[in-house]
Amino acid sequence: MGPAHPGVPPGHRPLDPPSAVPLTASQSPCPVSHSRSPQLNAAPADQIRLLDVQALDVRLTQLAHRRDTLPEHAEARALESDVAQRRDLLVAARTEESDTAREQAKAEQDVDQVRQRAARDQQRLESGLVTNPKDLESLQSEIASLARRQDDLETIVLDIMERQETAGARAKELAVKVEELEAKAAETAARRDAALAEIEAESGAVRAERAEVAAAVPADLLKLYEKLREQQGGIGAARLYQRHCEGCRLELNITELNEVRAAAPDAVVRCENCRRILVRTPKSGL
Ligand SMILES: [Zn+2]
Repeated sequence: MGPAHPGVPPGHRPLDPPSAVPLTASQSPCPVSHSRSPQLNAAPADQIRLLDVQALDVRLTQLAHRRDTLPEHAEARALESDVAQRRDLLVAARTEESDTAREQAKAEQDVDQVRQRAARDQQRLESGLVTNPKDLESLQSEIASLARRQDDLETIVLDIMERQETAGARAKELAVKVEELEAKAAETAARRDAALAEIEAESGAVRAERAEVAAAVPADLLKLYEKLREQQGGIGAARLYQRHCEGCRLELNITELNEVRAAAPDAVVRCENCRRILVRTPKSGL
């Protein structure tokens, strides 16, 4: 092997064909890839076990994804914002209601004053004490003017009462709506929490199982797997299935297949394309 890989001991190149079939430099199937990482060996059963660890890790990832994307999260957020919005409207309606109540009291007071003054004028008119024609005319004119004023003020009172009624009805309606939305929000939160608890329980069980299976995998193999898993989007070990790497889905070419075929059963083989640990099984198509 010397010429193609100077400085790399043969023992570090697991996928090379046995030295009984030497290759020339131009025939060499893989110029560099295997020299990157030191050779790792692991019993075939341990490599299969690594696939179990991988499957459990995938389940944990899926559970985390399910936890983060529960529809109840978005539902609860939407309800919360809806409740907040209606609460603001309710506060505004109640403010309008109390403002108009004050306005009404004030306007009614004005009506009372005008009415009292008109009554006094009327009394004076009927008492016969005012005899001067000019004074009488002035008194009658004031009574007429007060009557118009009272009319206007009563119209204002009616308008205020109408606005107050509208605000009151609106506040009542909004209070019902807020209560309804709050109940719905509480129900959604309860549903979300129940789903989260269920996912957490399942994750706990999977984590325990994962710890148990991983404990049986040799430490160096597990370490390599963890490193690759981090680099390769959560998949560090893949099955070689019908000549395909199940990590990157690519089919191994004939040279790569020959390398895998030639590798010792306990050699830890890597995918030429994605660098993941490639685990051989009876269905590898070798
Ligand atoms: Zn691959």
